[in-house]
Amino acid sequence: MLEKVVIANRGEIALRILRSCKELGISTVAVYSVADRELKHVLLADESVCIGPPASTASYMNIPAIISAAEVTDATAIHPGYGFLSENDDFAEQVERSGFIFIGPRPETIRTMGDKVEAIRSMRAAGVPCVPGSDGPLGEDDNENLRLAREIGYPIIIKAAGGGGGRGMRVVHAEAALLGAISLTSTEALNAFNNDVVYMEKYLERPRHVEFQVLGDGEGHAIHLGERDCSMQRRHQKVVEEAPAPGITPEQREEMGQRCVNACEQLRYRGAGTFEFLYQDGQFYFIEMNTRVQVEHPVTEMVTGVDIIKEQLRVAAGNGLTFRQEDITMRGHAIECRINAEDPVNFMPSPGRIENYHAPGGPGIRMDTHIYNGYTVPPFYDSMIGKLIAFGHDRTSALARMRVALDEIVIDGIKSNVPLQRSIVTDPAFIEGGADIHYLENKLGLQ
Ligand code: ADP
Repeated sequence: MLEKVVIANRGEIALRILRSCKELGISTVAVYSVADRELKHVLLADESVCIGPPASTASYMNIPAIISAAEVTDATAIHPGYGFLSENDDFAEQVERSGFIFIGPRPETIRTMGDKVEAIRSMRAAGVPCVPGSDGPLGEDDNENLRLAREIGYPIIIKAAGGGGGRGMRVVHAEAALLGAISLTSTEALNAFNNDVVYMEKYLERPRHVEFQVLGDGEGHAIHLGERDCSMQRRHQKVVEEAPAPGITPEQREEMGQRCVNACEQLRYRGAGTFEFLYQDGQFYFIEMNTRVQVEHPVTEMVTGVDIIKEQLRVAAGNGLTFRQEDITMRGHAIECRINAEDPVNFMPSPGRIENYHAPGGPGIRMDTHIYNGYTVPPFYDSMIGKLIAFGHDRTSALARMRVALDEIVIDGIKSNVPLQRSIVTDPAFIEGGADIHYLENKLGLQ
């Protein structure tokens, strides 16, 4: 096994990684900014190193500082978590060049998947269904672009190859707006991502977000852990996630899961990854691959019994995967509500001191959080302070447990989105299952 792992992240995911390391007998190094001295995992880690000032660009995104921390503590490997440097191919490369194990895919894989045009190209080649579109970058020829859009059919969406986080996209409803949208998106993409390449896709009007979790051993063998539905979104940010996705049949799961596995095997994919799809009218359309562990991984853990972080650590150590595909069965249903330190009505961040925290409990309840009584949520980072996960033998019982848990949880001193989550889990369309990605914003009156 790995001897010592640097956890290059903060908050709940850093604590989550620390726990799996401890279970496996791996020593842990927490790296933290000066604003994060009181983080729970910093207090629990074997060693800790301050890597800079509060701003994440100077600390959690500071590649030399993180690599130095690994050097001074004589660590073996670095786990990037999610966000921050987790999908930065330069970071992965520098970690490896400095003699440490990067707990994630090879730098080349991260690079390919980070370029959406390249990602789509390699997925098509592997037989993964994609959104009908330009099959590559748009050129300068206006007539050709007009012809292409007509052939695909309006509405279409112009997307930046280097885009991310819901930025670098523009929907076009009619031909008159096409050429302007292409040049605007391209200029914006150059400024934002230093890459002016844009491409065109059919705009799907009422899709759901359904994604498949995969694990690869890096040697050409991979498995899938089924799918999650993450359609409850606000501004392209997921708010509630669940596994399995309502209405997906075992045959569909088998077919799509196998296609994702094939793609991973062709890529010789290493570690945990997610294939994100839009799902509409019974069809899956690939949109992107995330080459890291995701916020919503616990719902998959609850229904499969696989500890995804432990598998990442095993693969990084060169020990392969614990499970074969035939060992994986999905049992029951799990739902995750993201708990954010924010105003539940206007979504303004609400940092500050937590005066009183009571965790919910009972059968099937899991709370992944770093907060505790007296902890101060700093204003510098993402507002997510935890994830409440409810498991039940079916969706109805998971939902019932989630409602009880959301009634039980107490977070005093700051505002949280718990009232919003209560309104989602009692919403008739959510209870029915299968709402599309616009449902929540419509419900909130934001569209
Ligand atoms: P990012 O990397 O910025 O998250 P994605 O390609 O994953 O970009 O797209 C983000 C979101 O944009 C999707 O979840 C979906 O809501 C919307 N979107 C992207 N492509 C399409 C499309 N072809 N049709 C409809 N919506 C789309």
